[in-house]
Amino acid sequence: MGLSKTIWTNPTEFLKTQSPENPVLFFAPSAVQAVARKFLTGFPGLVTYAVKSNPGEEMIENLVAAGVRGFDCASPFEIDLIRRLAPDAAIHYNNPVRSRSEIAHAVARDVKSYSVDSHSELAKLIELVPAAGCEISVRFKLPVAGAAYNFGAKFGATEDVAVELLKTVAAAGYIPSITFHPGTQCTDPNAWAAYIREAAVIARKAGVKIARLNVGGGFPNHRAVGVAPQLDETFATIDRVATEAFGTDRPALVCEPGRAVCGDAFTLAARVKAVRDGIHVFLNDGLYGSLFELGQIGIIDRITVLTPQGEQRKGAVHGRVCFGPTCDSVDRLPGDVPLPDDIAEGDFVIFEGMGAYSTVTNSRFNGFGELAMVTVLGQKL
Ligand SMILES: *Cc1c(COP(=O)(O)O)cnc(C)c1O
Repeated sequence: MGLSKTIWTNPTEFLKTQSPENPVLFFAPSAVQAVARKFLTGFPGLVTYAVKSNPGEEMIENLVAAGVRGFDCASPFEIDLIRRLAPDAAIHYNNPVRSRSEIAHAVARDVKSYSVDSHSELAKLIELVPAAGCEISVRFKLPVAGAAYNFGAKFGATEDVAVELLKTVAAAGYIPSITFHPGTQCTDPNAWAAYIREAAVIARKAGVKIARLNVGGGFPNHRAVGVAPQLDETFATIDRVATEAFGTDRPALVCEPGRAVCGDAFTLAARVKAVRDGIHVFLNDGLYGSLFELGQIGIIDRITVLTPQGEQRKGAVHGRVCFGPTCDSVDRLPGDVPLPDDIAEGDFVIFEGMGAYSTVTNSRFNGFGELAMVTVLGQKL
């Protein structure tokens, strides 16, 4: 997937002149820079980018250009990527389960911040990571509603375990911190409030003054027409509750957004391969391609349909069954997809807000997944 060298004015200009047969993701650097600046000026602490959401080099380079100086990495590959593209950036290795060789890799690359949610993994860190100047954050979980996806199902210690872990971290001479991740696509700021209050309880019970509180990612991007992200309200809630909960022991804050930073920088154009017997719509992209995540967290309803000539279809919108290109029957977009009645073979279906968990999860199953990336000045069709 190479990035084209030409810069187009908008997606429509490209689609009507190039008539691409494969799916295309349109990247607008201006959109990344704008949202990065919104975080850098609005979030009351250090902004790190969750690399896993979109590790494209053009993403990382634009974030560095906008002033982002911290990155949340989950693997040696991501650590090496950031060391190459942003040599002086802070790297937080916040995947709480790592093999010994992965830990050694991070230590050799001078990674100074790790998260942990279990006694066994903390013992490995204590054995392999020098304590001087190094932070270990204890990750805890809460059963919180409000996210599109339950992250607590895999990671995060219960309160009792978190208290014990925090005591051990401090006693072993590391910089003690706490972290959580409220889920993804959290549209309710109160998800963070509940976690921050619980973090203060854990610190108090452990008798440890924490250096930093990492409030995770989970900030939403614009997936549903009627639900625009309220980032400023969320930042204000985090700031207020951190002071209420910790008082004079308030730690420095860190966040690690992925989706909110990269999501709205990309627009997908999938092409209609067929409208089978006038009913089912078959696209050239689907659940094994860049639309993988729709199967987990639901449809993006910011959809526009363009004719091959770039004109917007204006027919009445109804729900349709919509399939991807592979022969697997799982390859169906969730629910009924809102599409205009006059949609036809050869049309382009435009999904806005497609930068997160799309390029990275695209597979080559059945020989599909040839995804082009095109740079545009702006995404307005
Ligand atoms: C995935 C992940 C993130 C980023 O989540 P978004 O919902 O994309 O913001 C941040 N922190 C951790 C620990 C994660 O696993």
